Amino acid sequence: MDRCMQEKQAIVEKVEEQNKTEKPPQLFDLTSLQREANRTLGYTAKQTLDYLQSLYEKKLVTYPRTDSRYLTGDMEEMLPGLCRSVAEKFGWKAELIVNADQVINSSKVTDHHAVIPTRTMAEANLDTLPKGEQEVLMLVTGRLLASVADPLKYTKTKVILKAGGETFTASGRTVTDAGWRQIEQHFGKKKEKEAPALPKLTEGTALPFSKAECREGKTEPPKHYTEDSLLAEMEKAGAKETPDEAERKGLGTPTTRAAIIEKLVAKGFLDRVLDKKVKYLIPTATGTALIGAVPEIIKSPAMTAEWEQKLLQVEEKELQPEEFMREIAAMVRGIVQENGQKETIRMSERKITGKCPVCGTEVIESQKEWFCSNAGCRFGLWKNNAYFKKIGQELTEPMVRELLSEGHTFLKDCLSQRTGKRYNATLYMTADEQQRPSFRMEFEKRNP
Ligand SMILES: [Zn+2]
Repeated sequence: MDRCMQEKQAIVEKVEEQNKTEKPPQLFDLTSLQREANRTLGYTAKQTLDYLQSLYEKKLVTYPRTDSRYLTGDMEEMLPGLCRSVAEKFGWKAELIVNADQVINSSKVTDHHAVIPTRTMAEANLDTLPKGEQEVLMLVTGRLLASVADPLKYTKTKVILKAGGETFTASGRTVTDAGWRQIEQHFGKKKEKEAPALPKLTEGTALPFSKAECREGKTEPPKHYTEDSLLAEMEKAGAKETPDEAERKGLGTPTTRAAIIEKLVAKGFLDRVLDKKVKYLIPTATGTALIGAVPEIIKSPAMTAEWEQKLLQVEEKELQPEEFMREIAAMVRGIVQENGQKETIRMSERKITGKCPVCGTEVIESQKEWFCSNAGCRFGLWKNNAYFKKIGQELTEPMVRELLSEGHTFLKDCLSQRTGKRYNATLYMTADEQQRPSFRMEFEKRNP
């Protein structure tokens, strides 16, 4: 470090440039669409499925419950026309490239092809659609157009610098042709963080620098699951144990995965917890207790894999269905005998605090918040509530009860941040347009 500071310059020893390309993304099957909608729009897997189902019923998208990411050969001819009309619908005016062969593979389509917008969509009035449906439709349309576009081209630059007898490297990338990325951005995808472009450098140049420092880094603990990462994990689970020819892989099917997550939340085994604008799925105390109590074999994806394998044998008439059922029954009996004596865990009852001011569904208390049990509703109150902190109060259960039933509660000894004085007030709670709580105070009149 000291030596570097003495020299106060670095010599460019080598500049390596490589031209690279990035392939366009694949079309959506249900799971990949649910993941993307969770990542970019914040919707749960269930919400996305509901929006998509509704769009399908309005004939604006093709069949939603699919696990294919390709189209069939007979669709090749109509594809350019479809792409052009749906692109126009969303205001794309520039030239449109349609490399149909990138998305066509009949051998990878079983019952249903990937989800794409329909021709009907190009003529429909989209203004009347609910916001969620509009956003999901835009995502599906953007993906169709991106998947047939040209690859993204960029130059990757690596610079090797020498300073104070040490070697340093810097890398960057310069996009030379945005290709499919340009379309994704038109369709509302935010720019992802990219390596910065480096200035043009030539070998042998001396670069002055002003500061040298050593930064200490920390490795982060693994992150909690979001719906996006959990769906990916469910898709992969047990893949190693599952035979290649098994029809179904992973936990659940594209159609049931959303329902599995919703059920775990509704039954109080998982909480949705918001942290820095990202909703994480976190096990509740009940969820953790359940996992501790359930026999190992039931928790293992290997069991599902084994059953799948046997079902396949039944299908191929290598195993009698009666035999399969006998085995299942024997296994269940074994589990019950083994675990029957163990102390039964008591599931904590869901604690209902009141009715949601937005939709009237039950509001439930979890470890960190009171939240509306309707998955489509965003209403919730954090226990560690910033508003209450600011007025020197702590949000308690009786207060929430009263706010939910009466719409207001009386607060004693609030703290004024400005004057440092204490005061009493009635706090009124309403829900704003975003279904979030908003507060208003009415001050107690002082006795003359
Ligand atoms: Zn609600």
